[in-house]
Amino acid sequence: MGQGVLSPAFTREGDVVCCEGVSLPRLADAVGTPAYVYSASAIRTQYRTLADALGRVPHRIHYSVKANGNLAILRLLRELGAGVDIVSGGELYRARRAGYQGPEIVFSGVGKTGGEIADALRAGVRLINVESESELAVVEAEAARLGVQAPIALRVNPEIEVSSPHAYIKTGERGTKFGIGYDQARQVALRSRGLPHLRLLGLDMHLGSQIPDVAPYVAALARLLELYRHLVADGFRDLRYLDVGGGLAVSYDGERAADAAAFGAMVSDAVEPTGLTLIVEPGRYIVGNAGVLVTRVLYRKQTGGKTYVITDAGMTDFLRPSHYSAYHRIESAARAPVWARSTVDVVGPVCESGDFFAVDRELTDVAAGDLLVIYSAGAYGFVMASNYNARPRPAEVLVEGGRFAVVSERETYDDLVRHEPSTLAWRDG
Ligand SMILES: *Cc1c(COP(=O)(O)O)cnc(C)c1O
Repeated sequence: MGQGVLSPAFTREGDVVCCEGVSLPRLADAVGTPAYVYSASAIRTQYRTLADALGRVPHRIHYSVKANGNLAILRLLRELGAGVDIVSGGELYRARRAGYQGPEIVFSGVGKTGGEIADALRAGVRLINVESESELAVVEAEAARLGVQAPIALRVNPEIEVSSPHAYIKTGERGTKFGIGYDQARQVALRSRGLPHLRLLGLDMHLGSQIPDVAPYVAALARLLELYRHLVADGFRDLRYLDVGGGLAVSYDGERAADAAAFGAMVSDAVEPTGLTLIVEPGRYIVGNAGVLVTRVLYRKQTGGKTYVITDAGMTDFLRPSHYSAYHRIESAARAPVWARSTVDVVGPVCESGDFFAVDRELTDVAAGDLLVIYSAGAYGFVMASNYNARPRPAEVLVEGGRFAVVSERETYDDLVRHEPSTLAWRDG
């Protein structure tokens, strides 16, 4: 077991792991496994901690839907006053289904289609974060077609070094596909001035994910504010937003999480003198430690000198260990009859050697039928699930004050073939 409490919402009561007082073994009996379980109070606590830390400056928290887009979670966050940051038309649809109005939505993303941009403009989103000069032209065309002015910010790559635990979650360094190169940003801003259906309202960045330190934000903000001062000198009068993106780290095994208070104090110091409204787009920070994946052990076997614990969840349900080499704490949900430990690989049933949750991990001895809790699965968990190996995606459950509700039904086999017609509608080619 690692060190430190990941979230006070998940506790061991007697022998059993509980979420807000709800026994996970009992919950698993009721809804089946694998199942994601989220704590409403943990989500609220994280949101409020960040909101309090930013209290000094005018700010907006736009939760990053891609971390966990379940409608129940989106509604819960909206009640707290959150807006959303979306990266696709599908996320726009989700956000609106959850009740978010246009001004509560910021649209980010490196490859928006014309159709998605038109949908966002029709919805009246607060900002479209534009990532290239060619995107500028597409937004202009769609806005002209609709007869509206598009509110835009430029996503600038500050091109600083970011210490993120995996290359796949770095976005603010030189040479990534994200944003407008720092040296080109002023040119792109000037170009936007010649396009009558665009209104440049802000500057935006997103450094990457799982960043514990404030220093990269300080360095990047300094770059963005330097650009801001150039643009003011160039006569841009409408600038009012500074969007610093997401990326705040959570603790997966007792390592240092982002310090909301330090982050809030630093960005406030930097932004306050400008009078700009600060936008932040946290995802992982809000939900990462508010969720776990509960999975049942199917088999335990020894082969090739190793012991494997084979679970009913696989990489199709939870991809992070395989995709990012991510470490996730794993514990037995109940005390095993024999409280011995051994070193095992925890693996799923998918036909891939990359289908693992833990390699060479010391774990309580569990046997077929026992339950495991995979911690810190609230962000980039269910949203990355797939149907590979024709596996229905798992259920999602929200726990709130001693009660629980299924917020996404386990998929059925019917769901797997729903879009595949049995008689083919051939068309002349
Ligand atoms: C993914 C993403 C976020 C959220 O990142 P976290 O690390 O989950 O906070 C915010 N903004 C943009 C543009 C993103 O792509």
